[in-house]
Amino acid sequence: MFTMIKKVIQNIFFKSFTLKYPKEKANVSINFRGTIHVDQKKCIACKLCEINCPTGAIIVDPKKKYSVVDRDLCILCGLCAEVCPVNVIWFSNNCENAEKKRTEFAKQLPGPNPRPGKRS
Ligand code: SF4
Ligand code: SF4
Repeated sequence: MFTMIKKVIQNIFFKSFTLKYPKEKANVSINFRGTIHVDQKKCIACKLCEINCPTGAIIVDPKKKYSVVDRDLCILCGLCAEVCPVNVIWFSNNCENAEKKRTEFAKQLPGPNPRPGKRS
C-alpha cells in the first residue's frame, strides 16, 4: 500500500512516463521496421522473397519483373529483405502508417495491386 501511494505521489510531481501523442513524437530507433519499401526497378524477379514470406504478403511477377507487397498481410518481419540477393527491399523507421481508409493505406506503397479485386 505504501509503495503504491509513493508511486502516485511521484507521478503527480514528476514528468510522466508516457508521451502526449500525437503532439509529442516517440524517439524511434533507426533500425525499427516501420514501413517496407521495394525498389521495383532493380528487382530481378528471383522469387526468393515470395518463397520466404511467412504470410504470403509479397507477390512476384516474373514476366514484368517486380515484387509487390500486400500491406494488409505484411507483418514487417524482414525475412524478404534478408533473402533478397540484390538488396532492393528495405525498411524505414516511419511507424505512423495509420489511415482512416484502406485505399489511402494502400497508396503508401505505390505499385500494382497484388491481388486485384481483393483490395478495396
Ligand atoms: S516483411 Fe515479412 S511479412 Fe512483410 S513482405 Fe517481407 S517477408 Fe513478408
Ligand atoms: S528477392 Fe529481391 S530480387 Fe528477388 S523477387 Fe524479391 S525483391 Fe525481387
